[in-house]
Amino acid sequence: MMAAPGAASLHRVAFPQSQTARWRGRATGSLRQVNTPVKNGTAENLPMQSEQEHQLRTKIGEMLRSGLKTKTEPFPENDAAFSRLLVELRELAPDDLEGKLVLSGFTDKPYGEDQMRCQECMYYLVHRRWCDLPELAVPVESNWWCRLWRI
Ligand code: SF4
Repeated sequence: MMAAPGAASLHRVAFPQSQTARWRGRATGSLRQVNTPVKNGTAENLPMQSEQEHQLRTKIGEMLRSGLKTKTEPFPENDAAFSRLLVELRELAPDDLEGKLVLSGFTDKPYGEDQMRCQECMYYLVHRRWCDLPELAVPVESNWWCRLWRI
């Protein structure tokens, strides 16, 4: 079910602080680092943050499952198109969750012929299940996808 016009404020939420959110620049090809200590699958020193992120991930999953229509196309085929999309994302209010999901074309399943997904994206933090692209900075599932996907 699509969100009703004017209902976007229903999905405005406070985002957990990203511990690793910093722009690493795709042109450099630098690899991300996972700097959240993990033990038995849990961020042992960040239980509150972990719980907040879990709740937000669940909320995003529900929004996508309920039929939120997102802009999966066009896929940004070059750096200029990618940068334009980032600029548009930066223009959104920081707590505009629905706007981020719509503009970045989130799906709750792998996308396209190649079945692209967060799991293989350079911005995905495996242990935290987190999108570390600063313009998004949201908890995600490994089999989700958005059109900012990069390897
Ligand atoms: S595919 Fe999109 S949401 Fe998933 S990790 Fe990459 S940039 Fe983030």
